[in-house]
Amino acid sequence: MEATELLKKHNLRKTATRTEVLKEYLSAGKALSHAELESKLGEHFDRVTLYRTLNSFEEKGLLHKVYDETGTVRFSLCSDHCDVSSHEDDHVHFHCTKCGNSYCLDLPIPEMNLPKDLMINDVYMVANGICKTCQRA
Ligand SMILES: [Zn+2]
Ligand SMILES: [Zn+2]
Ligand SMILES: [Zn+2]
Repeated sequence: MEATELLKKHNLRKTATRTEVLKEYLSAGKALSHAELESKLGEHFDRVTLYRTLNSFEEKGLLHKVYDETGTVRFSLCSDHCDVSSHEDDHVHFHCTKCGNSYCLDLPIPEMNLPKDLMINDVYMVANGICKTCQRA
C-alpha cells in the first residue's frame, strides 16, 4: 500500500511530513529509530514534529516499537491488521549484533504458558544474530 492510502486508511490527515516519514518506512524494509529517520530525511525536518508524527503513527496502528538489547527504540511498519484500537505485532524481531539493524520476522511468537497470576500486556521476543548482509561482508 502507498503512503497516501495508508494515511487515509488510518484516518490521518495527509501532511508533507507524514507522507515523507511513511515513505521512508515503506522503503526501508527494516526498523528505523528517530535518529536514523532524521538522518535519512535531512535537517530541514523539525525534531518535535518528527516525534509527534512517530507517536501518532504508533497510536493509529501504522508503526510499532521494536526494542533491542542496546536499548535503542526503533519503529517498524505494522501489518494490515493493526489499527487505532489494537496492535497485532506479536511476531519475533531479529536484531543484528554487527550492524545494529532490527527487522520484523514473519514468525509469530510461540504460545507460552505464562503464570496465570501475572497480568501480562505484551510479550517481546528478539532473536539476536548476524544478518545476511553482514554475513557476506
Ligand atoms: Zn501494530
Ligand atoms: Zn547486520
Ligand atoms: Zn515488528
